[in-house]
Amino acid sequence: MNIIDSNTKTTLLLNNAWQPITTITARAAFLHLLKKNVTAIDKNSNVFHSLESWNNLADYFDDQPSIRSAKATWPIPTIIVVTSRFFKRPKKKKLSLAETAKIYEFTCQYCLNKFALKDLTIDHILPRSKGGQDVHENRTLSCQPCNTRKGSKYPFPNNEGKEVLVPNIPSLILNTNKIREEWINFLQIS
Ligand SMILES: [Zn+2]
Repeated sequence: MNIIDSNTKTTLLLNNAWQPITTITARAAFLHLLKKNVTAIDKNSNVFHSLESWNNLADYFDDQPSIRSAKATWPIPTIIVVTSRFFKRPKKKKLSLAETAKIYEFTCQYCLNKFALKDLTIDHILPRSKGGQDVHENRTLSCQPCNTRKGSKYPFPNNEGKEVLVPNIPSLILNTNKIREEWINFLQIS
């Protein structure tokens, strides 16, 4: 057992097709298990539907993350699967300008030239003034001049006359420094 802070991201959350959604904190994983939103997977890939059976019957890793309350120590599963129909999927994280620039290799998606980060900006493909939302699917990378040139025009093709599309970036952005070994099988299929 490895006692950790409950805000540590310990747990890989899988959807009901066993595909990775994101990583969540020990505290969130514990609460989901308590509310029966999820099933916990142990070291031997056994599946536990309740907190009681997880606590009493699961086979833990040597370094199983655990949180401590006043009265007890609670082992936290490192992989959980959503079972509840009412489970609210965590929102897809919006990428920062720096992250977006990295994905597009600092290339403006309209003129297709490279720029320094300070000369780039996030552009809403369908302009906000026309009802476009500030969501991942509507955000791309633009240089300042193209952004000005584009204004609220839509559609606004790039220099090759093509429609600007959002790339299929991994929907899973693992917000953790530590990738656990038992996650790898699930991450490769994403
Ligand atoms: Zn440009």
